Amino acid sequence: MSDKLIKIACLYENLMNTYGDSGDVKILKFLLKREDYDTKVDNISLGDKFNADNYAFVFFGGGQDFEQTVVAKDLPRHKETIEKYINAGNPMFCICGGYQLMGSYYKTNSGITIKGLDILPLHTIFKSDKRMIGDTHYMTEWGEVKTFEDHSGQTYFDDTNKLHPFGNMIEGYGNNPQDHVEGLRYRNFIDSYSHDPLLKNVNVANEIVQMIITRHQVRTGKETTPVKVGEKY
Ligand code: GLN
Repeated sequence: MSDKLIKIACLYENLMNTYGDSGDVKILKFLLKREDYDTKVDNISLGDKFNADNYAFVFFGGGQDFEQTVVAKDLPRHKETIEKYINAGNPMFCICGGYQLMGSYYKTNSGITIKGLDILPLHTIFKSDKRMIGDTHYMTEWGEVKTFEDHSGQTYFDDTNKLHPFGNMIEGYGNNPQDHVEGLRYRNFIDSYSHDPLLKNVNVANEIVQMIITRHQVRTGKETTPVKVGEKY
């Protein structure tokens, strides 16, 4: 494997990209190129084999309820590899519909409960009286983020000791109308409701780029210390 070729996995991009979320991966490709790295992006879709160990970054975008139902049937095959990857402190991003599928369940508008991977202690409930749509603005540990949200699922943490919000809301809803927080961070795993894409906020993108490079160096044997995980996470 070339020292200068970084491998990124994009989960179900053909189904979970309603809002152009894989623009996040395109931004990372561009920024990594500036650091002199080439990237290879594998789209892992229905029936494909997937071993997270082979990647320096894993991305999972948002989608509508129907696509989530389809994807949720295929996804459990990958639970073990994703869980191991996240717990080892490796970088991963899930947006909106992908975010919801990392929790225990997503109860949809039609009363169907989609089972999630149950890797993180959270659940989501669709509330038809409130579509959370519009600009969002929030503060993260890496500074301000301005993006766009569009969802009816309201996400709640079931263990606030384990999960930390990714940001504190200034404008918009984020996870739900009550908590005034956006997304979550657990180790170097980030969940978010932000489309637009999120990584147009280069303050965040630059942090992710550094995590990806470290993870890549560990994979290629250039570095022995795994990606740093902030103390509180
Ligand atoms: N279908 C989910 C919801 O409406 C997710 C939508 C999305 O990924 N933007 O909450």
